[in-house]
Amino acid sequence: MIYDAAIIGAGIVGAACADSLTQAGASVVVIEPSIVGGGATAAGMGHIVVMDDSEAQFTLTNFSRNLWLNFAPRMPAAVEFERRGTLWVAAGDEEITAVRDKLAFYAQRGVRAQMLNEMELREAEPNLRHGLAGGLLVPDDAVIYAPCGAAWLMERALQRGAKLQRGIEVDLLQQDGIVLADGSFIGAKATICAAGAQVLRWFPELDIKLRKGHLAITGRYPGFVNHQLIELGYLTSAHGSTGDSVAFNAQPRGTGQVLIGSSRQFGATNASIDQHMLQRMLARAVEYMPAMAGMQVIRTWTGFRAATSDSLPIIGKFGDNVYLATGHEGLGITTSLGTAHLITAAVLGTEPAIDPAPYLPGRSYCH
Ligand SMILES: Cc1cc2nc3c(=O)[nH]c(=O)nc-3n(C[C@H](O)[C@H](O)[C@H](O)COP(=O)(O)OP(=O)(O)OC[C@H]3O[C@@H](n4cnc5c(N)ncnc54)[C@H](O)[C@@H]3O)c2cc1C
Repeated sequence: MIYDAAIIGAGIVGAACADSLTQAGASVVVIEPSIVGGGATAAGMGHIVVMDDSEAQFTLTNFSRNLWLNFAPRMPAAVEFERRGTLWVAAGDEEITAVRDKLAFYAQRGVRAQMLNEMELREAEPNLRHGLAGGLLVPDDAVIYAPCGAAWLMERALQRGAKLQRGIEVDLLQQDGIVLADGSFIGAKATICAAGAQVLRWFPELDIKLRKGHLAITGRYPGFVNHQLIELGYLTSAHGSTGDSVAFNAQPRGTGQVLIGSSRQFGATNASIDQHMLQRMLARAVEYMPAMAGMQVIRTWTGFRAATSDSLPIIGKFGDNVYLATGHEGLGITTSLGTAHLITAAVLGTEPAIDPAPYLPGRSYCH
């Protein structure tokens, strides 16, 4: 059999591509050496968020978030979708200016957002420290449990006839298909590389670097946090900085647990916990929510983001029958659905709902 598409990797991006392509009627095979959603997807925070670092980033995150909101009524409880909203926390006057800019940007583009003053911020999140300047609430942002999100997307594809081959990795890419580690060949008209940073194995010329992150989860403290909270300084940490950085980021889980992030490190390749980074990250969280100091952290872990120089993912055709879907850094859970839409349009030759140009592999920074 010759498949319409062979997808390398069953993280949330590969699973979303399988879902979207089979929805459009394509025959699909997915190869995954480990478990569905077990890579960076399992390490992620599951925040579905509109971001505005650049116009292209806004377009993809906003489009993708809206796809998640459309999916929400059909998702099983295991995906733990909750429309918690993002609350960007402004510590001082300078950050209030950033809130105003963000509010104006969203208003011009039809994204619901609301500015909160100091009192309103405290009412919304009583456990934040006193004296913060205010915030910006983006009420339609959401959270999911990403590994189950990936599993659900894959399950939908399987029900439409997709094949999932697990426990073996793809070794070689060929003009007319892929070769697995045991030497077997699978014929496919299109090959979609959704293996995260592992795509460097076949395309070392791509401008992708690993960016390590730590997360911690607490015991159950229902109602301690109500929204996905992020300090506005996160934007500097996530996009501006090339060194090690931490930013306050707290997410309420349906269990009453609080997921605490975030850290960013380039050049760290060891997956073990870096105690100094974990301590910095938790200390930052306590600065914003002092009562966190008395909370029990029950688990900590790390993961690696596949980061590009311009903070945009790499999506689209890269060679005769090869398509890339990688480089999603800290937004791949959010943008998986938009990525899958663009890949489906590129493979099947249909008109995408958003301009694919800013994300194409051929843009200048791919050497
Ligand atoms: C700490 C942290 C926090 C994050 N928080 C968020 C967040 O709140 N919101 C958000 O939107 N994003 C977040 N992210 C980013 C998000 O997790 C990733 O961008 C996303 O999971 C990438 O998905 P993926 O499918 O591309 O990669 P992966 O999930 O890594 O999947 C790639 C798959 O490819 C498989 N593979 C590798 N090599 C081969 C091969 N040779 N053959 C076949 N298969 C192969 C792997 O086994 C793996 O399953 C976070 C990331 C981290 C690390």
